[in-house]
Amino acid sequence: MSAPGTDNYDVVLIGAGIMSATLGTFLKELDPSLRIAMIERLEDCAQESSQAWNNAGTGHAANCELNYTPQRDDGSIDISAALKVNTQFDLSRQLWTYLVSKGTIKDPQAFIHACPHMSFVWGGKNVSFLKARFDEMHVHPCFHGMEYTEDQAQISHWAPLIMEGRDPHQPVAATRIITGTDVDYGSLTHLLVAQLSTQPGFDLRYNREVTTLERDGNNGWRVGFKDSKDQATGSVNAKFVFIGAGGAAIELLEKSGIPEGRGYGGFPVSGIWLRCEVDAVAQRHHAKVYGKAAEGSPPMSVPHLDTRMIDGKRSLLFGPYAGFSTKFLKHGSVTDLLDSITHDNIVPLLEVAKDNAGLEEYLIGQVLQSGHHQFKALLDFFPHARRGDWIEAVAGQRVQIIKPDTGDMGGRLEVGTELVPAEDKSLVALLGASPGASTAAAVALQVLHACFPDKLTDGAWLPKLKQIIPTYGIDLTKDADALRTSRAVTAKALNTENV
Ligand SMILES: Cc1cc2nc3c(=O)[nH]c(=O)nc-3n(C[C@H](O)[C@H](O)[C@H](O)COP(=O)(O)OP(=O)(O)OC[C@H]3O[C@@H](n4cnc5c(N)ncnc54)[C@H](O)[C@@H]3O)c2cc1C
Repeated sequence: MSAPGTDNYDVVLIGAGIMSATLGTFLKELDPSLRIAMIERLEDCAQESSQAWNNAGTGHAANCELNYTPQRDDGSIDISAALKVNTQFDLSRQLWTYLVSKGTIKDPQAFIHACPHMSFVWGGKNVSFLKARFDEMHVHPCFHGMEYTEDQAQISHWAPLIMEGRDPHQPVAATRIITGTDVDYGSLTHLLVAQLSTQPGFDLRYNREVTTLERDGNNGWRVGFKDSKDQATGSVNAKFVFIGAGGAAIELLEKSGIPEGRGYGGFPVSGIWLRCEVDAVAQRHHAKVYGKAAEGSPPMSVPHLDTRMIDGKRSLLFGPYAGFSTKFLKHGSVTDLLDSITHDNIVPLLEVAKDNAGLEEYLIGQVLQSGHHQFKALLDFFPHARRGDWIEAVAGQRVQIIKPDTGDMGGRLEVGTELVPAEDKSLVALLGASPGASTAAAVALQVLHACFPDKLTDGAWLPKLKQIIPTYGIDLTKDADALRTSRAVTAKALNTENV
């Protein structure tokens, strides 16, 4: 497309996390002639939220995460959000299957493993909720194969650690889906970036922090950066810019000055895990077991006890304990929150601060919790856990979106992700971090729709896109045959379970 030159690109991807790596993969598959630069401030890809230990590695399919299925006032369960997340993960599975069948990814077990997804609750009220949720979900083809039990012996069979030492009279319930997955998004990002790096027209620039985004006077952007080591500055031109900078995306969106970004702000939430690498313990648990968040706590604090498979080693992870830090990135600066405040977003930020006093109190309370209190939460889940088997680890930063309310100039806190595209489609920023990495393919498709609609035709990218995503254009929540075929094909290619 653009004339070859040292600093003219069709596309600049800011950040080398799973989102940029996935979008770059789609773009290069759709048009191998595109000149793409990926610019990353750190010395390697996937060092922030996409790094394996910085997230929980759940292939989020809403099988077990109770926050996607709220209970209505009449007691019924709303599964619409769960269906959306569930089928977004199908798109990621299809992309990975395409790359495996093409030979671009040689061994899917380098990043994905079958891992049953369970929900586990105790107490009469929670048991009734889980039963109502199961009744609603298991009849839908998307959640085919979901099992339910209130029998302690059965749960013990599924996940012995959560039952040993538990009061035999405690009302408990669990659901299980054996088609769930554990995904090492760090490893996957490395695989994607490695295959991109072998392609002509793809330049990877590590240790470059993007500092400015200015219009280049030619419908594109001049992307300025400084060398993270010697502070030397430089710039490149791009026809299209993807701000895939994770928590820092909000600051770069502000720097771009696009009117569509006005009023957005970010609210950082940090997290701590407990990690267990003791083989004798880790080998006795094979599931991702999600519980119910404590009353009044935010969705990102749902406790879960997870099997992780990282670098061929099985271990356990529990948490996260949410907390408050003013950094937007794990390797960021404590002034990030302050630096992000502008005259455009100060009102929405203050409004959110006023309306979310409960959340702030909760987060501060979590920060003040002692190690003893944190361990107590693990004991509620895993009664025989031994303190000495667990170490504390800092998780990635999540920056929740503060979205301007156009009507009253106020703002609200959002838990999902959002794309903010420029009106002329030359730039788009990805804000937020939930459901996250699992939906990377769906996010990339949304970018294509928002910014490259004229390419999505039979004469351009569409035939190839349908090869990569065979169910493109089909609503998998409605077409059970297409869903079954997609699951069977992807499970075979990725070596995961199918029912
Ligand atoms: C505690 C926790 C648990 C999670 N659990 C899950 C889960 O179980 N399943 C799931 O699917 N998702 C999960 N997520 C979400 C998931 O990790 C993120 O959605 C995903 O990793 C985001 O990818 P990204 O590429 O947008 O951002 P990142 O991986 O954060 O990458 C952004 C990159 O941009 C770089 N960057 C930033 N600023 C600049 C700049 N100015 N110039 C150049 N480079 C820059 C950063 O260094 C970084 O490498 C979790 C997240 C957290 C924090």
